[in-house]
Amino acid sequence: MTAATGGTNPVVLITGAGQGIGAAITRRFAEQGAKLALVDVNAEQLKQLTDSLKDYDVEILPLSADVSNKEQVGQLVRQVVEKFGRIDVLINNAGIIRDNLISNISEQDWDQVLDVNLKGAFLCCQAVFPTLKTQRYGKIVNIVSRAWLGSIGQANYTASKGGLVSLTRSLALEFARFQINVNAVAPGAIDSPMTQGLPAEARERLIRMQPTGKMGKVEDIAAAVAFLASDDSEFITGQVLHVDGGKSCGLLSL
Ligand code: NAP
Repeated sequence: MTAATGGTNPVVLITGAGQGIGAAITRRFAEQGAKLALVDVNAEQLKQLTDSLKDYDVEILPLSADVSNKEQVGQLVRQVVEKFGRIDVLINNAGIIRDNLISNISEQDWDQVLDVNLKGAFLCCQAVFPTLKTQRYGKIVNIVSRAWLGSIGQANYTASKGGLVSLTRSLALEFARFQINVNAVAPGAIDSPMTQGLPAEARERLIRMQPTGKMGKVEDIAAAVAFLASDDSEFITGQVLHVDGGKSCGLLSL
């Protein structure tokens, strides 16, 4: 697998970079010598991540911003172009959960999840597009979830991720003529702060439901993202790569 191109040191913009999967994606690109624009709503987490990358000889632009805010997204993209002169890769990773059965999902929890997971990715894609179009080069990878196929107690989350799959496919068609690839990675259950925050019983049940009997690692997602951000995947666009230990293949028969 070759490194992401767009030059030897591609400019990679990663949202929700502060922890979990986003931090693993960040480390993966740092190992490749990428120039990193790291976005997170949590400034403290972003600082800790940036400090932890000191041993890598890479340029880093930390950006504290909320991806669901159009003005902040516009401003951060301008800052990235001002500092690095281009954008080669956008990873829409920022995401939240507010799980509940449909009767108990508040309007606020619906709106927040859709705003961050779907509108946030839309705003970022829209904001980087003029730069990618001018370059006639770009890779967009949207982090969705295996749950986009359906999941009890997650109607807001699954709707946001299903919407993001549709956005991925439509933008793949719109952007193809500009040599911009748009793909999605659908993680299954991954051991990250998001799942570590689940009640112990729910976490154990989740693990029992996995064909592999274990959760995936954040590095498993980073490896798939690196492939879709590289020129090895040049003729792949509009696709969803499930990285879920087989969970998307169907129900386990026990
Ligand atoms: P995580 O540990 O909660 O990390 C997400 C990061 O995004 C956090 O640093 C969070 O900050 C930040 N963030 C939240 N809202 C934001 C906003 N509006 N603007 C900018 N940054 C924001 O989650 P993760 O497990 O690494 O998940 C990353 C992505 O993978 C998400 O899209 C998630 O839906 C997807 N995914 C995860 C799993 C899994 O099992 N972990 C499975 C399938 C899909 P705060 O901590 O301050 O909120």
